[in-house]
Amino acid sequence: MKDLIIAINSGSSSLKFQIYQFPEEKLVVKGLFERIGLSEAMDLTYSLADKKSSHLVIGTTHEDAVRFLLRFLIKQHIVSDLSEITGVGHRVAHGGEFFPGSCLIDSDVLEKIKSLSHLAPLHNPINIMGIEAFQKNLPNCPQAAVFDTSFHQTMPEENYVYPLPYTLYKEEGIRRFGFHGTSHQYVATEASKTLGKKIEELKIVSCHLGNGASICAIKEGRSVMTSMGFTPLAGLMMGTRCGDIDPSILTYLSREKHMSIEEIEKMMNQDSGFKGVSLISSDTRDVEEAYKKGEPQAKLAMNMFCGRVKQTIGAYAAELGGIDLLIFTAGIGENSALIRQLSCEGLTFLGITIDPEKNQQNHSIINQEAGQAVVMVVPTNEELMIVRETNQLIEQ
Ligand code: ADP
Repeated sequence: MKDLIIAINSGSSSLKFQIYQFPEEKLVVKGLFERIGLSEAMDLTYSLADKKSSHLVIGTTHEDAVRFLLRFLIKQHIVSDLSEITGVGHRVAHGGEFFPGSCLIDSDVLEKIKSLSHLAPLHNPINIMGIEAFQKNLPNCPQAAVFDTSFHQTMPEENYVYPLPYTLYKEEGIRRFGFHGTSHQYVATEASKTLGKKIEELKIVSCHLGNGASICAIKEGRSVMTSMGFTPLAGLMMGTRCGDIDPSILTYLSREKHMSIEEIEKMMNQDSGFKGVSLISSDTRDVEEAYKKGEPQAKLAMNMFCGRVKQTIGAYAAELGGIDLLIFTAGIGENSALIRQLSCEGLTFLGITIDPEKNQQNHSIINQEAGQAVVMVVPTNEELMIVRETNQLIEQ
């Protein structure tokens, strides 16, 4: 009897899955359905036993994808019976103040996730579709919700309330939530393990730098501050998102340029960040290439991005009273030696140094030996965190 747990991440036109065998935490198969709902068929790409394959799957909904996935598991002899799947863990974008941790899904939990849809209109409704598709097609299998926001529920009030009229928090729930919690928690846990230390012993700053980017300050194993806010638009400059700007720019654009709310939202979410400033691309690989050729607009974008990362690391050093461990993760954090180097330049006064060679070679530990803070590159793995959390909840 196998003990398999599935991690599910449903997006508006995609559904990602990874299946792990427990207790070994061995990845058995992973894959991605794409172009869901865009025509009569969707694309499935998957890796099984290190072999990549792709398929065209007839169907138009997330439920069609789930039904196909379950049939596929039997056909590929990954399971002989669906009862070998002992749990399904879903990534859920927003848990609001309801969920300080992951939880098994029952009708009450599902209602609460639905009630938070106004806070994450692009994500929660799609996550719910994934959950309901599994409830229908695998009704006896326990399902868990793992929230992007939960890890940050430990922030102190002074760090999550905005300096707006307090009634906006009390009556409307407008506050900093923070996102990427699963990733920050995972890399901080893994890095502490690698160092042979307890996470509780370390003052940690975790930099999740991908297309979306956020930084988190972790003290005694808990998030105490993070750069994303009420929405994932806040904080650092990102691939296409502006991050923190003077809020009066919005009212100015509305009043003086007669831009609509929709136009302003699109500008801030889709046309800003690296894309907006570099005038080249939202992808840092393209911007880096232009930067190395001395292209001025690329240089400006890189300096702005790395400057904001550096300023946030400095602010969080102040929040924590120093840094023992600085972590870089996600697409940019794991791959861009240049961005890691520029972001840490001038931080020697905080004990943060970078060894150029180790950095260039993407070593796991990249600080100079004399540096007081450990600087690490840690590949994130949100799916592994999701199946671990699901497994724990099932075993309780
Ligand atoms: P998300 O999950 O938020 O979509 P990822 O964590 O996958 O993002 O990161 C994607 C980004 O990582 C890409 O937009 C690209 O800018 C960056 N990236 C990936 N590989 C490299 C690389 N080798 N060098 C620099 N940047 C990279």
